[in-house]
Amino acid sequence: MLDTISKFYHGLNAVGRTTLYTTPLLLLAVAVLLVLERKFPYRKGLPFFREGLWVDLFWYTLVQSYFLQILIFGFIIQPLAARLGAQFHWVSGWPVAVQVGLFVVTHDFYIYWFHRFQHNSAFFWRTHEAHHSGKQVDWLAGSRSHAVEIIINQTIEFAPIVLLGANPIVVPIKALIDAVWGMYIHANVDVKSGRLQYVINGPEMHLWHHADHEEVYFANFSTKFATWDWLFGTAYLPAGRKPVRWGLPYAFPKDYFLQHAFSVHRFDEAALAEQSALFRAYHGLRWRLLGWLGRHVPAARALQGWPVPDGAPETVARRPGSNPAPAAPVSPATPESSRPVATAS
Ligand SMILES: [Zn+2]
Ligand SMILES: [Zn+2]
Repeated sequence: MLDTISKFYHGLNAVGRTTLYTTPLLLLAVAVLLVLERKFPYRKGLPFFREGLWVDLFWYTLVQSYFLQILIFGFIIQPLAARLGAQFHWVSGWPVAVQVGLFVVTHDFYIYWFHRFQHNSAFFWRTHEAHHSGKQVDWLAGSRSHAVEIIINQTIEFAPIVLLGANPIVVPIKALIDAVWGMYIHANVDVKSGRLQYVINGPEMHLWHHADHEEVYFANFSTKFATWDWLFGTAYLPAGRKPVRWGLPYAFPKDYFLQHAFSVHRFDEAALAEQSALFRAYHGLRWRLLGWLGRHVPAARALQGWPVPDGAPETVARRPGSNPAPAAPVSPATPESSRPVATAS
C-alpha cells in the first residue's frame, strides 16, 4: 500500500506533487471559514443554503473554472510561451517564495486598477456586475465572476508567471493563495482586524464593496492588499456600521447562462417568459427539477435556497451600464447615502 502511494507520488511532476498539498489546504480553509461563519457571523441568520449557492458552486466554481483553465492555459498561455520561448526568463534563479511574493503583489496592484476601471466603464461593468449580483454574500460568493473577467484577469495573472520563467509550482501556490484570500474577503465573518485592515484586505471592507449603498459603488476595490484603497483614496470603512442592502440596485437574472446573456443584451425576464414558450420552458426547468426533488426528498428542499425578493431599487446612484429603466422608482438620498467616502487622509 505504502509502496503504491510512494510510486504514485514520485510518478507525479512537481506541479502535481504541489497540488497534493494545496488541495487539502484549500479544503481546510473552506472548513475553517464555514465554522467561523457559523460562530461569528457578519450578517446573522445567513443560511448555508443561501440563494444562488448552487449556481456559484456548480456553474461558476466547477464547470466554468474547469473549461476556462483549459482555455487560458492551453489556448492562450501555452501558445504564447511556445512563440516567445525562453527570452524573458528573468526570475528563474529566484527562490520560489520571492517569486510567489512578486506575483502576488504585482497582480494585486493590477487587479485593483482593473477592478476600479470596471466600476467606471459602462462596457466593462457588464463583465463585473454578475460578481455583485448576489444579495447574500458568503465564502463562495466571490466565485461568481463573468467568464470574460476571468479570462482577462487570469491570463494577465498566469502568463507572466510562465513567460518570466518562474518555477512551475508557483502556479498552484498562487492559485491556492487566490482561492483562500478570495473566500476570506467574501466570508460572512465579523472580522475586526484593526490596523491590519490597512494592509490585509478582509470581509470588513470587501463586504461593504458588495453592499447596495451608493457610497461604496466606487470604493473598496482592493482584493488582497487594502493598502491600494487607502493609498489611492478609495477606502470606505465606517466605524460601527454595516450595510443594510446588498447586491445590485436593478433586477439581474439568477441563472448562469442568462447572467452571461444579460451582459451582452439587456432583457426583461418576465416579459420574455410571457412572449416565448421556449424561454418559459428553459427558465422554469431548474425550479421544476428542484420542486420535484423537494417533493420526493424533503431534505433536498434546502437546495432551493432561501430567495431574497428583488425589491425596487432603493438607491439613487446608477452603476454604469445598469438597466435602462427610466421609470424605475427612485427614492431621495438618505443622510446615510450622502456621506462622503472616507479616505486615508
Ligand atoms: Zn466590484
Ligand atoms: Zn467580491
